[in-house]
Amino acid sequence: MKYFIGNWKMFGIPTSINILKKINSFCSKDKNRKKYRVIITPPFTLIEKFAKTFKGKKISIGAQNCYYKDPFSSNTSAVSPYMIKSVGAKYTLIGHSDNRGEGDNDVLLKKKVQFALKNKLKIVFCIGENKVEKKNKKTIIVLKKQLQNVLEKKFDKNNIIIAYEPIWSIGTGKLPTPLELREITIQIKNILQNIFSRNSPAVLYGGSVDEKSIEIFKEINEIDGFLIGGASKSSKKFIDILKNYYR
Ligand code: PEP
Repeated sequence: MKYFIGNWKMFGIPTSINILKKINSFCSKDKNRKKYRVIITPPFTLIEKFAKTFKGKKISIGAQNCYYKDPFSSNTSAVSPYMIKSVGAKYTLIGHSDNRGEGDNDVLLKKKVQFALKNKLKIVFCIGENKVEKKNKKTIIVLKKQLQNVLEKKFDKNNIIIAYEPIWSIGTGKLPTPLELREITIQIKNILQNIFSRNSPAVLYGGSVDEKSIEIFKEINEIDGFLIGGASKSSKKFIDILKNYYR
């Protein structure tokens, strides 16, 4: 089973649901539909509407972030995992580089992971090195730290998905080579096997995935799916990604 997760970031108003209706309509007739899972993470403002519309359909809905306190804590602007779950979302991203860049550190991310899992949300935990770290050949050291500082053996690995998103690739069109990406994915899975002392959770790739680059990435069997930013805001591009992946 492969994951195709669309991260809409700060994109979307209620009528943007038409994009998802087209994707859902394609997926419901697609002969390959049993081979993949589609998850869309719209902004908080659209979760309830989207989750209601696609309940029981091919598209699942997730949040892009969550707060780390109990249901109705006194924190202005924060949204707890309990609130996210209550409007029908099943997943949440945690640790996207946009949020790490604004101060989400490992201590805070661990609390978010714990609270999300406690509230039975599945988490998509994002990790990735920046340009300087890559240049200095620190990628694996950075990824290992990001994983080991947050994940624990006692966490339910069935509710955890890892998204490897090199920061230098997000929104830039710059891609890792297939060789590089295969090697990094294998190393991430080894680190995860050590943490969970058994099989690794699914490991996705994210960073400039579109209908063209998917042709390169689909050759890498070790990758369990993709986190897609820009290209997930177009029904055509998203559908073409699925078509090209299974062609
Ligand atoms: C992202 O926002 O997580 C992302 C991977 O973006 P893009 O696909 O546009 O690089």
